[in-house]
Amino acid sequence: MKKVLALILAALLFCCMAAPALAQAPGGRVVRVAYPIQPGLSDKDEFGKYSGYTYEYLEELAQYTGWDYEFVEVEGSADESLTKLMEMVENGQVDLMGGMLYSDALAQQYDYSSYSYGTVETVLQAPYETAQTALINSQANQHMRIAVVKTSGARIGELEEFCKINLVEPEYVLCADANEQVEAVRQGRADALLNTSLNYLEGVRTVARFAQKPFYFITTKGQSTGLMEELSGAMLAMEQANPQFSAALFEKYFASTAGELALSEEEQAYVAQAGTLRVGYLQNKAPFQYQGEDGQARGISIDLLTQIANNTGLHFSFIPAKDMEALSKLVQGGQVDLVAGMTYNYDAARAQGLSMTRSYLSAQYIMLVREGTQEANLAQSPLALLEWSQYEGSADTPIKRYPTQEACIRAVLDGQAGYTYVDTYTAQYYMNQPGYSGLKSIPQTYEARKVCFGMAKPGSKELLSILNKAVADIPELDMQSVIFQNTVQKQPVTLLTLLAQYPLESVCILAGVALVVIGLLLALLRLRARAGRRTALELKRHYQVYALVNEYFFEYDFKKDEAVIFIPSEAGENRRMVRMNASQASQPGMEESQRLFRQTITSGQNGVQEIYLKCQDGRYHWLRLIIETVYDGEQAAYALGRINVIDSEKREKDALEQKAQLDGLTRLYNAEYSRLFVQEALERGEMGALVLVDIDHFKQVNDRWGHPQGDAALQRVAALLKENFREGDILGRPGGDEFLAYLPGTIGPEALGQKCAALCRRVEETVLENGGRITVSVGAALALPQEGYAALYRRADQALYAAKAQGRNGWTVAPREKEAT
Ligand code: GH3
Ligand code: MG
Repeated sequence: MKKVLALILAALLFCCMAAPALAQAPGGRVVRVAYPIQPGLSDKDEFGKYSGYTYEYLEELAQYTGWDYEFVEVEGSADESLTKLMEMVENGQVDLMGGMLYSDALAQQYDYSSYSYGTVETVLQAPYETAQTALINSQANQHMRIAVVKTSGARIGELEEFCKINLVEPEYVLCADANEQVEAVRQGRADALLNTSLNYLEGVRTVARFAQKPFYFITTKGQSTGLMEELSGAMLAMEQANPQFSAALFEKYFASTAGELALSEEEQAYVAQAGTLRVGYLQNKAPFQYQGEDGQARGISIDLLTQIANNTGLHFSFIPAKDMEALSKLVQGGQVDLVAGMTYNYDAARAQGLSMTRSYLSAQYIMLVREGTQEANLAQSPLALLEWSQYEGSADTPIKRYPTQEACIRAVLDGQAGYTYVDTYTAQYYMNQPGYSGLKSIPQTYEARKVCFGMAKPGSKELLSILNKAVADIPELDMQSVIFQNTVQKQPVTLLTLLAQYPLESVCILAGVALVVIGLLLALLRLRARAGRRTALELKRHYQVYALVNEYFFEYDFKKDEAVIFIPSEAGENRRMVRMNASQASQPGMEESQRLFRQTITSGQNGVQEIYLKCQDGRYHWLRLIIETVYDGEQAAYALGRINVIDSEKREKDALEQKAQLDGLTRLYNAEYSRLFVQEALERGEMGALVLVDIDHFKQVNDRWGHPQGDAALQRVAALLKENFREGDILGRPGGDEFLAYLPGTIGPEALGQKCAALCRRVEETVLENGGRITVSVGAALALPQEGYAALYRRADQALYAAKAQGRNGWTVAPREKEAT
């Protein structure tokens, strides 16, 4: 048992060690962080509570590094404090600063983190009320007045590029700062303002985004204290643990709030006549668009279109295409009106004859490699790419092309390719599935992949603007939920999926659990076996005692209502046990006997009891039970005892008893018992009559024929009495030549007289063995109420005397009145 426990403990410990170590031992290092107040990025409320994208990102990082932060703030305007803090980083007064874009010039002054921790976009924003009309429609030339800050030349350059592509003719409204920009759009002097996605302005909503740029942490140049290495390592670990973390954080601080979906009259008219729009989708581009096992279109893009259909009144039908080429054919052949999802890329859109809606999702690219792969060793490994991907890599990159994203990932897992690039959602979708464990994701600084819907050219201006409005209108929570449902909750967690995902850990846990269960079972079995053996031994001993004594024993279990009878072995027969249950009789006709037996042994009366009942051999026997009741507290639990068959004893006793009662010569009751029985009958208060019979001149019989002949004569008279009277009458010989008969029951004097007369005649007619004859005289008396034996006998005797006196061989019935005595 101890060994089993030790094994289980070892297995559990091993499991714990195998689990990813989330938090490392705190280093206790205090990192000084430059904290410029920038709404949304690094903010602080009136109570001094910090918030913002950079702040929360750093807090999460601390989970991995164990760092403590000291946030350094300086006075002055946003620009002034920013400049001052950057100087402090440069000269080592502060260790770290976030929110830095990359430029070669700055890279000379600072050390950059290996990975970016977010991206900033240049955006056009308009007040909520006018945002609908300010939306960019890339189908038609559009004139737009845009409020810009004079000094932000780089941003204006990006805007010009964007306007060119989207057929927008910009007219710049020059402002001194952001406040003036907001005023300009509020007062209607401008349609939109130029801003960055990190600069939060109240009351405006983003209507276009472009020029996405990653931002980084910077540290003091050349201060090699291991800070940057530790930071980059933690960022990598954090992104791997939760690839969605930065995206979710960005949405939290910078996503534009959704407004009402208001369709113009033209748009409403379009919806009314549009009918069902055909949407082409790729069968194998999970989690964005794919064909489910049931043949239905599924994925993030499909779910969003379904939601858009609900919000706008449009109807969509989905047409699958096996690859990009097939989808292009559908577009060119006019077989679809829309495509369900495409990368937001002008060149690709133009080549395929598609107009793009605004993007509804942007996802960072990540590199997928097998776990344990060193990034440095990847240069020579082939890169797995989609067949239609336009990415070429660098000139000397060996490339292997695969038809689907899934095939690319599989190639990496199988070792056919060293790495592939996918967006975070796709990575998450696959890495959440069993069979794809063993992948590692490495964040990339490439421009995020933006996804939008495509409309086959020449499409409807109204449709494009409806889709743009609908996309802008999808609440962030809904978006998150759609993404979540399509990536994270792909599969229910079953034992099998867990096994596939964490084979080593699962085996350890299962082995541990199995060992615990087996251990417990073994212990239980052992206990039971021990108890069983003890009981069996006790029972054996018990039975052996019974076997030693060649007698019947019984045990009655009150709880089970079951009696067991141990029957001693007879010659050539084994000792037997008979079980009797109250509900079942072992033989027909035994019910009554079993009831009596059960009643006797459960009566609770300990000691000896004798019963007469039908037994297993089918015959009636006299049994003597010696009963002992065993109590469990107040409750009777068992009745035990010995059974003796006492048939012969009973017979002997009966014989003895009879002998004592009867007259030896005539087998009639002797004087004592005839008197006793008549007395008993009288005491019961029953009616009856006493008849006394005396042989006439018996002395002479003896004298003439000898004493033995006299005896024979007496026996003969006794026999005649038995014939003359009924079965239930009491017949006795009180003494000498005198006989007695007591007739219980109601009888009248006449009937009694007739009985006496008949007896006299019967004796007179009888010829004895020696040829002689005798006569008798009879005196009878009807018992009076409450009359005792002596009184009745006296009256009968007087009647007999009277009969003798009247000449013998006759009878007299005593008069009923007492005074006759
Ligand atoms: P009575 O007609 O007046 O009755 O005349 P009796 O001769 O019968 O007179 P009694 O009844 O007094 O005589 C009884 C005789 O019965 C006396 C005795 O010898 C005889 N006796 C009594 N017991 C026995 C017995 O067991 N066997 C025989 N053989 N005779 C007996
Ligand atoms: Mg006589």
